[in-house]
Amino acid sequence: MERRKPYQLVSREWKAENTVVTVNGCRIGDPSELVTIAGPCAVENREQIFTITEYLSKIGVRLIRGGAYKPRTSPYAFQGLKTEGLQLLRAAADKFNMAVVSEVMSVDRIEELCEYADVLQVGTRNMQNYPLLKALGKINKPVMLKRGMSSTVEEWLLAAEYILLGGNENVILCERGIRTFENATRNTLDLSVVPLVKTLSHLPVIVDPSQATGVRDLVPPMCYAAVAAGADGLIVEVHNQPEEALSDGAQSLYLDQFMAMTEKLRELGRLFGRYPDFDLFREHRPLRPETP
Ligand code: PEP
Ligand code: MN
Repeated sequence: MERRKPYQLVSREWKAENTVVTVNGCRIGDPSELVTIAGPCAVENREQIFTITEYLSKIGVRLIRGGAYKPRTSPYAFQGLKTEGLQLLRAAADKFNMAVVSEVMSVDRIEELCEYADVLQVGTRNMQNYPLLKALGKINKPVMLKRGMSSTVEEWLLAAEYILLGGNENVILCERGIRTFENATRNTLDLSVVPLVKTLSHLPVIVDPSQATGVRDLVPPMCYAAVAAGADGLIVEVHNQPEEALSDGAQSLYLDQFMAMTEKLRELGRLFGRYPDFDLFREHRPLRPETP
């Protein structure tokens, strides 16, 4: 006999239809959409974030990412611009009609993140920070929950259960690679969890090939693979000057490399019945009545 699942609210048995998280007109979790979140690992200065945001907005990306509070392995590494970073990110996003995705590391910063961001990211290191998850259950903004680098699918879904149990149903799951014996890549992208979690849960699943591989040139192929695996979206690190980046430069795409990738994603998306959120591609969408 099959063991009873320990989670409930996140399960397909509890809710059969896909949860769709709508942000800035993008419907994350809609099987006919492919949502791309892009931006630098960290907000570094005004020029950097405005340059990147403008470029991405011209391609039609609707969600900009950027860390202001950075969980760094070394305490000597750049820790993020904190409030100033959030203010710069919000200003750039507002100028170019983008929504903001940024990480929250602690309960005492939730209010501040809610003021500046549209989606709050929970990083891999915090997936089992239960006070944080409980507090995020009480906010009215979507939460992007990354998989813990050493967490099982069950632990990941139980972490999401905490947020739903608190009353917040707008949760996006993000696979970002796990720890294995392999050290040729930063992590091991566990793509098989995408179709698996889509059967176990109604929540949207997106993929972060940047943290997963740690290597810029491996990011586009893993993005294509993620689409083929059924991901609802991608979160990708891009930088105007990756060599100068204060964090994760080696895994950040050049802007023109990102642009070239979006062109392939458009073709690939069509094959899988998914239409990227890039404005340039909207004409290719099937006509669908607007849902409120
Ligand atoms: C990031 O997105 O820059 C990040 C720190 O992610 P993760 O928590 O997956 O390492
Ligand atoms: Mn990063």
